[in-house]
Amino acid sequence: MTVKSSDRFSTNKVIHTLSKSTFLRGLQCHKSLYLNRYRPDLRDELSEAQEAVFRRGHDVGMLARDLFPGGADSSPVNRDYAGAVERTRELIKGGAKVIYEAAFCFDGILCLADILVKKGRKWKIYEVKSSTGLKDVYLPDAALQYYVITGAGLAVSDVSIVYLNNQYVRQGELDLEQLFTIESVLEQVVSMQDDVAEQAAVMKKVLAGKKVPSIDIGPQCSDPYGCDFTGHCWAHVPEVSVFSLARLNGTRKFDLYQAGIVRLEDIPEDYELTDRQQLQVNAHIAGRSKINKKEIRRFLEAITYPHYYMDFETFMPAVPLFDNVRPYQQVPFQFCVYFLEEKGAQPELREFLARAGSDPREAFIKALIEATPAPGPIVVYNQSFESTRMKELARDFPEYEDELNERRDRLVDLLVPFQKGHFYAPSMNGSASIKAVLPALVRDLSYKGLAVSDGGMAMQAFEHLWTETDHSRVDEIRAQLLEYCKMDTFGMVRIVEELGKV
Ligand code: SF4
Repeated sequence: MTVKSSDRFSTNKVIHTLSKSTFLRGLQCHKSLYLNRYRPDLRDELSEAQEAVFRRGHDVGMLARDLFPGGADSSPVNRDYAGAVERTRELIKGGAKVIYEAAFCFDGILCLADILVKKGRKWKIYEVKSSTGLKDVYLPDAALQYYVITGAGLAVSDVSIVYLNNQYVRQGELDLEQLFTIESVLEQVVSMQDDVAEQAAVMKKVLAGKKVPSIDIGPQCSDPYGCDFTGHCWAHVPEVSVFSLARLNGTRKFDLYQAGIVRLEDIPEDYELTDRQQLQVNAHIAGRSKINKKEIRRFLEAITYPHYYMDFETFMPAVPLFDNVRPYQQVPFQFCVYFLEEKGAQPELREFLARAGSDPREAFIKALIEATPAPGPIVVYNQSFESTRMKELARDFPEYEDELNERRDRLVDLLVPFQKGHFYAPSMNGSASIKAVLPALVRDLSYKGLAVSDGGMAMQAFEHLWTETDHSRVDEIRAQLLEYCKMDTFGMVRIVEELGKV
């Protein structure tokens, strides 16, 4: 492969070979580090879900600044990193006590500290994360910051990770001291300094090389983060492969791959598989669905008339937006219910979609209770999701506990016959999710063409409504959300109908 240098730094003075993000990329895979520099055109497009993660990280970072208010912002303007380093130097010289996005360069490595605070004659580094715990993967990140900042000549007394406290329950105004947990990682970070220097030196050699490092796909492609060169590196792996075998652990998948076994038909007959995995392989090779009529009939017997189909949508703001909510708590904002009074009856639609701007939960509960009166089983897809949400609602609104528990007792999980392999079609490719099952059983219904086509997109669409001021856009997004939830729920109606036929 011929390589050309990326022109990403061409408009500004180049002051670094590595940055914090490229160093972390290099720790995961040298090929990713190299491609990112010389072939950024091969990177996968950023998904909406990934963009939402970045936005969330940025928002949490901005909020954490209020833990140390009144600081000076040294963020680079138009990617002028040299200017940011110079501005940080001047701020320090000028007696600043708190600096946000403080920029430093040492040993050809650039890093920006989220928050830098002067205590006495020394400085404390705070790295903000939008997660709810201190993960091992944050340590090399903090170690690199310590390496660069101390190397640049600053006296550092501590390095801490700032993350969200998932035990915090909002009551009234946000309490930042409670919302955030600050944990020092100084000891670990100091012990990693030699390793940081060694790794950085190796990465610089990789970047100075003339060829893309010869690295095959492996567990590193998704650990600790999903790599954005997957589309390029995994292009030779067919859509149906050992990697789509249901519930086979990653090590065994890569063992098969390294032994040259990629397609399901290449798996040796004596290779140990579970019954469910063997069913998947057999169905794929035969090109035919596998149906256990006896088990399906038994399952359908539980869906007596009248009955309901029900689906919830939730969103999970990192920072609680209203009282009685924890960071990342799943907050239901929408449901769709279809009611079937008797065999052959027209399904009756009952739906709810909250208005953004306030706590949707009590209105959600009331509408749900009204939409699902006894008697009759309530069919859901992946019962644990709806059941857990109702349990949480009962905890937070105990006055509705009895009615919510009564609904929970009536749940029937439509996932079960697919998860247990009572019905399996080759096109499901190892998945039992409704997104895989629906097109396999119901040809005339499809998520294709829907503006909102999965739960993650629904979550982002609803979050977007909190800040959208254009009324026509609000109406448009609400219509998209209603359409999506209806598709998931009506999909269940049709799946049960089709199961009845087989
Ligand atoms: S997809 Fe895997 S092999 Fe390719 S660059 Fe990324 S981590 Fe490396």
